[in-house]
Amino acid sequence: MTQSPDGDAAAPDPMIRVRDASEHNLRHVDVAIPRDRIVAFTGVSGSGKSSLAFATIFASSQQRYLESVAPYARRLIDQGPAPRVGDITGLPPAVALRQQHSAGSTRSTVGTVSRVSNVLRMLYSRAGTYPVGRGPGDLAGTFPRDAAPLDSDAFSPNTAAGACPTCHGLGRLHRVDESLLVGDPDLSIRDGAIAAWPFGWARKNYRDILGVLGIDVDVPFRTLPKKQREWLLTTEEHPTVTVYPDRGEGYEGSYEGTYTSPRSWVLHAFATTKSAAMRARAAAFLTDDRCPACDGRRLNPEALAVTVGGQDITVTNAMPLSQLAAFLDGVPAHPDTALLPAERRQAAQALTDGLRGQVRTLIDVGLGYLALGRTTSTLSAGELQRLHLATQMRSGLFGVLYVLDEPSAGLHPADTEMLLAALRRLRRAGNSVFVVEHNPQVIATADWIVDLGPGAGRFGGEVLYNGKADGIGSADRSATARYLRPGAAVAPHPEAPREPRGRLRLEGVTGHNLRDLAVSFPLGTLTAVTGVSGSGKSTLVERALAETVRRHLRIEPSGDDEDETAEIGPGAAGPTEPSAGDAVWSLDDDVVTVAAADGLDAVNRLVRVDQKPIGRTPRSNLATYTGLFDSVRALFAAQPEAKKRRFTAGRFSFNVPAGRCPRCLGDGVVSIEMLFLPTATAPCPVCEGARYNPDTLTVRVAGKTIADVLEMTVDDAAVFLADLTPANRILRLLSDIGLGYLTLGQSATTLSGGEAQRIKLVSELHRAPRGHTLYLLDEPTSGLHPADIDLLVARLQHLVDAGNTVVVVEHDLRTIAAADWLVDLGPGAGDDGGRLVAEGPPKVLASAPGTGSLTVSHLRKVLT
Ligand code: ADP
Ligand code: ADP
Ligand code: ZN
Ligand code: ZN
Repeated sequence: MTQSPDGDAAAPDPMIRVRDASEHNLRHVDVAIPRDRIVAFTGVSGSGKSSLAFATIFASSQQRYLESVAPYARRLIDQGPAPRVGDITGLPPAVALRQQHSAGSTRSTVGTVSRVSNVLRMLYSRAGTYPVGRGPGDLAGTFPRDAAPLDSDAFSPNTAAGACPTCHGLGRLHRVDESLLVGDPDLSIRDGAIAAWPFGWARKNYRDILGVLGIDVDVPFRTLPKKQREWLLTTEEHPTVTVYPDRGEGYEGSYEGTYTSPRSWVLHAFATTKSAAMRARAAAFLTDDRCPACDGRRLNPEALAVTVGGQDITVTNAMPLSQLAAFLDGVPAHPDTALLPAERRQAAQALTDGLRGQVRTLIDVGLGYLALGRTTSTLSAGELQRLHLATQMRSGLFGVLYVLDEPSAGLHPADTEMLLAALRRLRRAGNSVFVVEHNPQVIATADWIVDLGPGAGRFGGEVLYNGKADGIGSADRSATARYLRPGAAVAPHPEAPREPRGRLRLEGVTGHNLRDLAVSFPLGTLTAVTGVSGSGKSTLVERALAETVRRHLRIEPSGDDEDETAEIGPGAAGPTEPSAGDAVWSLDDDVVTVAAADGLDAVNRLVRVDQKPIGRTPRSNLATYTGLFDSVRALFAAQPEAKKRRFTAGRFSFNVPAGRCPRCLGDGVVSIEMLFLPTATAPCPVCEGARYNPDTLTVRVAGKTIADVLEMTVDDAAVFLADLTPANRILRLLSDIGLGYLTLGQSATTLSGGEAQRIKLVSELHRAPRGHTLYLLDEPTSGLHPADIDLLVARLQHLVDAGNTVVVVEHDLRTIAAADWLVDLGPGAGDDGGRLVAEGPPKVLASAPGTGSLTVSHLRKVLT
């Protein structure tokens, strides 16, 4: 530390110094990391990057911050475990930007999260052009030029002031389709003519009431007078009559029964039921149409009549941000603006200036293809993270430590350049930027690298390199260093690209930004679908291809994977959940159509392997998900002690009351609700995390309880369960794919997307081969170190060698280079994309002269 000449303050230490960090697998790590730099934390999955960057450094900062601002928080925080670290000095206040898959509520949109929507509504309110004679407060007469404009709330469909009065701001109308209410008009009401009634007692009740009301329930429905038919089907009245139910001889009871027409029942059930099954049953009698009053635009006519730069707010909300920026540039000089009174013109100038800055920041992190009205629930984790990043960048804070989790995930190499530029701006503004990263492109441009390893779990947790980025080559135990050297470029692949065994061809693919696209996927090969973010890859693979094959195989979007069902109608919220905040503006029916498909017959199974969590409760984990826990439980139930106590395999499930801890109900943790803070969890005070009650834990296999087995890593369990055939096979597959470090009981909620995806792949792999399967994977390499990518790609190549077809949406150049075939979409994002830019074997494309493909030009660097 240096002393200034006049003996004043010492120059501040420019380093964050961490001493004795031992969170998770960290091995008493001492490390000094510079502030005001871009620092990459590298290492294989499970080596301890997040444990150091998030669980130690970020968590310590957050804890200190909360303690300093809110004395009462200390008491609450103390209940959560403090990071296991000796000491940290030089720590700035920190903001974490993690990748989250779940955070999708239908309420939030790109516009609300970035807060652009607020300003945009103000622009329409204050600087909009209001039609003469249709201004607020004077609908009939002439609109005085300086009349009070609509409040900015009136431009939100989620406020009473703004919502279309016909559809209440939903943009859609649910109407009962009366032709469906009657199932079979040849039947009598008693025999079940009316389809749209509940079953059981209620149905009998309605029938008896109709009898009392003088309607013949024993003749074919179609023979009833038209007036009666119409009344009983659609009335909104609820007549109450005394019913003497026909319950046989000697029964004298009566009750007051109230009638509900099938139409009323359907509407009521749809709007109020909490049962998904009931709701689905009611929905079957409804049609769901675009609201004719607002044409699906959700706003009332007054708001829709207001324009800025010649367009209403719904049009502005539906524009890709890159177009929106150009539109805003033109607003101050637009002829309509010129006609406004002076102070409104000034407002237009000031508000568009602000908006352009906000929108520019979003474009700078590579989100220019999104529209403000896009719901965040339809964004990928990476897009959501970048949206939050851009919003943070607008905050103008400095001296902050930003900790980011793989910000390049989901980004094409060309988009990554933009992201890096944004991170550099954040650094230049006086902030520290820590990224947990695998992408060589990002690692190579970081100022500093902290590399962890050498392996995962207890084979990791050491700092192998801590220094300037260009020195990493000297770290010879580091797997990262190996992949940063030139020459180790391509992931595992066959000698020569495989010959396709036929082609699956789609024609006339239309939806989102794809227009009449024709494309082929060679069968029996590994195909990579590439292109910048927003070019249309997911639309092509997850929608067009998946839906076509699913239809061909007659698979309903399966109920066992709720994500598959959810994908069918994003944004189709029913009237019971009117979204508050802002929501989908361009409620265009989200359909992707395929005009013709060929080559489908060769495929007899479809498997999608995505990064969504394998479970949402602490009670699911890799052992339960892969099924290996079943054989472990059977093993415990077969022990003499278990037999003596009559414990069945079920007893060893923490989902069954008999065996589990009564306090935490088998979760092993209890949650602590904290006012104003996210819910925290702590180990269960009764079982101390064991999940089971003491009786269950008396049963041991080779000295280990079932709770001990759940604490084992995959690699340890493979040794312990060497003789348990089905479980052992799964354990070996998990280890082969790089997951040997995970513990069997680690809860599904703490697994990363990359871990979840590989667990899904393993459960798929251990099943017997079943014909020709088409595997669709969305960015399988995201979150993986190059060494782990090699393990994963090797498995994918095995699947292809076994006669299957694998299609991956990918950005990782080493993986793309290992594919047999490339389908590259682009050239740009949104409306500038959606076209087939290049197709063919990667090597052939890379050696051919300019295809205009950004992917191919980046690929060239890897392949040549
Ligand atoms: P990386 O970020 O390098 O992939 P992590 O820091 O997430 O690695 O994990 C390092 C080790 O700590 C792994 O063995 C992992 O299973 C373990 N681990 C991670 N999170 C937790 C947790 N919440 N509880 C217990 N162990 C954890
Ligand atoms: P990629 O997978 O290449 O990133 P996508 O297929 O997700 O691209 O997106 C292609 C285009 O379609 C983008 O302009 C995107 O904003 C738009 N898009 C994607 N999903 C939806 C959706 N659910 N509703 C409306 N537009 C969408
Ligand atoms: Zn409407
Ligand atoms: Zn417990």
